[in-house]
Amino acid sequence: MKYDVIVIGAGFGGLSCATKLAKHGRKVLLLEKKPHTGGTSHIFHRSGFAFPMGALGFSYPYKVKKFLENVGIEEKIAFERSHYQLVTPHFDMVYSRPFDELKKVLAHIFPEEKKIGAFFSDFSRILDLVANISSWHPDYQVHAAKITDPVLLSRITLVENYSRTPSATMLEKYFTHPVLINFLGSQGTYAPTMSVMNLGLMWNIMSSEGIWFPSCGIHGLTDSLEKAFNRYGGKLVTSTPVEKIFLSYGKASGVSCPGGQKFFADWVVCNTDYKKTFLQLVTGNGLTKKYLKSVKEIPYTQSELCVYLGIDPNKVNLDAMKAPHLFYRHKYNLNKKPAQEDFDNREMEICLWSDKAPDLVPPEKAALILRVGFPFRHFSRFWTGEKKRNESYYAYKTELALSLVKAAENILPGLRSAVEVMEIATPLTYQDWGQRHLGSLAGWTWHVKGEEILGKKILVKTPIPNILMAGIYAASELFLGGIPTAIHTGSMAADIILLGKNPH
Ligand SMILES: Cc1cc2nc3c(=O)[nH]c(=O)nc-3n(C[C@H](O)[C@H](O)[C@H](O)COP(=O)(O)OP(=O)(O)OC[C@H]3O[C@@H](n4cnc5c(N)ncnc54)[C@H](O)[C@@H]3O)c2cc1C
Repeated sequence: MKYDVIVIGAGFGGLSCATKLAKHGRKVLLLEKKPHTGGTSHIFHRSGFAFPMGALGFSYPYKVKKFLENVGIEEKIAFERSHYQLVTPHFDMVYSRPFDELKKVLAHIFPEEKKIGAFFSDFSRILDLVANISSWHPDYQVHAAKITDPVLLSRITLVENYSRTPSATMLEKYFTHPVLINFLGSQGTYAPTMSVMNLGLMWNIMSSEGIWFPSCGIHGLTDSLEKAFNRYGGKLVTSTPVEKIFLSYGKASGVSCPGGQKFFADWVVCNTDYKKTFLQLVTGNGLTKKYLKSVKEIPYTQSELCVYLGIDPNKVNLDAMKAPHLFYRHKYNLNKKPAQEDFDNREMEICLWSDKAPDLVPPEKAALILRVGFPFRHFSRFWTGEKKRNESYYAYKTELALSLVKAAENILPGLRSAVEVMEIATPLTYQDWGQRHLGSLAGWTWHVKGEEILGKKILVKTPIPNILMAGIYAASELFLGGIPTAIHTGSMAADIILLGKNPH
């Protein structure tokens, strides 16, 4: 049987594209490697606790809601805003607040810095520029007409310039205190590496749009998309990895799966990550060496160690948490780069998961998620094949997890004695279970260099006719944050197909 479209992967990007196409009467086959849909927004269960594999919240809930309504999902979903707090030896503040408030707090903490007001007024203009970027920038639209409007042209030029300007250069023009520069440049304690444009997008989400959690849980949204897809007659096949995309006369014409199973279609949409798609699924054909070299070399965002804890809340003091997301650094030595395993000297994220999703933990219990960034290479010595590790891996990751819990105890006294359930994810988990190249978490690198090399903001169209991308790796910047960007690119891929024109 031939399909109109094959979608590979049922994360937010793949499900959004597949459901929109099925709603519009296209014959769609959705192939998912895992036994379930949802991708990295899936939840898993351990001893009565349900924990999220990835996402803990997202921005632009009204855009997500509008998309869901447009594909016929009418369930009532309420959104609650999640707040973010940073605690370091220098300050303790909830920073997910409007600039007017943030400015006053920072002026109080850093009285010697005289340009805080000037910075916020200049930076607000950048935020205004990027705020609703998907509604006016041609890269984010399927119907991008030739632009002649001089106002719009100058707006686009500004965005391009900011995309190539390192935020560190801008921040150093206003400030001297490295703690302040790091905070404004990373929303934490790291030296700024991203572009001014990306920083603007990040602060717009944090201060202005907010980060929200839906009443049905994030997994509830992908469940609704799956139901709608089935209702429109789409064909979903789980536990079926695509191994190759094959071409005919230079255009995508189908895919093959284990056991020699083949499926044919006019279009193939990949919710797989970009590197996996072009370095494994469609090798060679139609791609220049230069193109393959850039796909190989441009890094993705890195991975992390994540420790999931089911706890007895009566045995730990959680008073320090003024918000469900706490970024915490116990010691802050600006002169020395801390070792990866030195958790007292590194920034960690602590999420009070049970506060966000009380229905997903047993009564009278609580759940915490501790996260700290780690590159894949730190763990690669343990990897012996997909979902295979050598013996010492388990002892090592447990030792690391316990050390992270101990470091978290500096701010949450009693934590170690409160732990009843512990599960650990490493970059190997995010690669083998999350299906992400080297366990990457959040799309392409956020480093200013990445945008410079990729050059394009939207990567939905690919060099191979009738192959499209959907999901967070289909954009060089997460301009709406993770999930809404995955939905937006999935929707764009569907629109390109519905337009009926080959974009090449
Ligand atoms: C630890 C972590 C934390 C995160 N936190 C947030 C957050 O708080 N907020 C946020 O917005 N985003 C967050 N993200 C990013 C998040 O993953 C996305 O925003 C969103 O879930 C991405 O959806 P996607 O469709 O792009 O990709 P995915 O969810 O990765 O979906 C891709 C799908 O493709 C499938 N697949 C891969 N290869 C094949 C194959 N060969 N054949 C068939 N199927 C295949 C996969 O199994 C998967 O189901 C986080 C990610 C991680 C890993």
